[in-house]
Amino acid sequence: MIVRGVGSTVWDAEGRELLDMLGGGIWVAQVGHGRRELAEAAAAQITELAHFTSFFEFGNDKSALLAQRLADLAPGDVNRVFFTSGGSEGVDTAIKLARLFHHRRGQTERNWIIARHFGYHGATYGSGTATGIPDMQHAVGPNLPHIEKVTPPYPYHSEMYGGEDPTDFLLRELEATIERLGAENIAAMIGEPILGGGGVIIPPEDYWPRVRELLTGHGILLIADEVITAFGRTGAWFDSAQRGMDADIIVTAKGLTSGYQPLGAVLMRDRVADVMAAGTDSFFHGHTYSGHPTACAVALANLDVLANEGLLRRSLDIGDWLRAGLAPAAELPAVGEIRVEGATVGIELVANPQTREPVAPDLALAVADELYDNHRVITRNYGPVLVLSPPLVLDEQQARRAASAIVEVLSRLDVKAGRVNPS
Ligand code: PMP
Repeated sequence: MIVRGVGSTVWDAEGRELLDMLGGGIWVAQVGHGRRELAEAAAAQITELAHFTSFFEFGNDKSALLAQRLADLAPGDVNRVFFTSGGSEGVDTAIKLARLFHHRRGQTERNWIIARHFGYHGATYGSGTATGIPDMQHAVGPNLPHIEKVTPPYPYHSEMYGGEDPTDFLLRELEATIERLGAENIAAMIGEPILGGGGVIIPPEDYWPRVRELLTGHGILLIADEVITAFGRTGAWFDSAQRGMDADIIVTAKGLTSGYQPLGAVLMRDRVADVMAAGTDSFFHGHTYSGHPTACAVALANLDVLANEGLLRRSLDIGDWLRAGLAPAAELPAVGEIRVEGATVGIELVANPQTREPVAPDLALAVADELYDNHRVITRNYGPVLVLSPPLVLDEQQARRAASAIVEVLSRLDVKAGRVNPS
């Protein structure tokens, strides 16, 4: 039970002080906990006008200002914004938008969405079906039809590619998938710039540019799921822009408000937004809390903090501090790979470094538990991968403390016995 937070520190109900290396537990708290300026922005807006929906014909000044700010920060002609309450709603919106884009141009067969194994896109039926994490696939009843999964880029597990260059293999597979489904039946591909919930998996540099080129050739849209990566997590406002995705639709949430209010934003290119406006019937889609003025006011204050305090730059520093602090762990037999991308880290634990066979998820969970109980450091395992996504206000001393705690616990990890040995 977490009851209080300041900066990168939180307290649990038993009064224990903990270092939050997960940013609110789930890659959220970009500006850290307990920020007065965000509380004041919320209070001022609630006093003025807590909420008035943008679902129908109304709007409000805060959502308009935030849409403009996002358009200014977003790459190229990504200039239009649709607000949701979070990531899953955003992904579902993006899927609908991609289909609508083609349907309004007369291509009503373009319904397939290509997603990837190891991808995480949310928990609603649409976003959940696009998710490729097996543990999360136990939907109640049939999943959404017309979603196909392809292999992700996972350089550490080169065995997936049978000795071939990973990008060559993946492009060949994608091309074969497009051929099998028929390009004329495919609306979009969706992917996270780096896979987050799948275990912080970073693609080779040429992956996204080559995927983008192939999709463009077939008239298929690209949706970047930036729910984790946007707003500084990897050092940029939008990670997809620095990774060569050139996305048509960008889904964001989490860091948009640093979790101080539930809010998501689906950004899109003008040409995607234009088809919505061009239809003879309107695109009847929205939510009670679409364009929530209080959430948008908090987001504006949050973006100010990110910019004014240089937290995008700090994200890269955090990555450097953690990389240096974690380096001794790379020598341990149970550590397969340490992946760092700004303030996001995945430490993949292996039962056998030669075969790269992963440890049982319970063992990675035992590491996270030990870090909590003995070092008062909050981390999480995603399967066999121990993940860090700290607030972007983490300082060097905190980063080094977290890293040395992790190295200490991992040095006691006994894979054969299936436990963390007592200290
Ligand atoms: N996409 C990605 C990449 C995510 O990491 C998440 C949440 N972890 C979502 C979508 C879903 O967002 P939400 O939980 O806000 O619905």
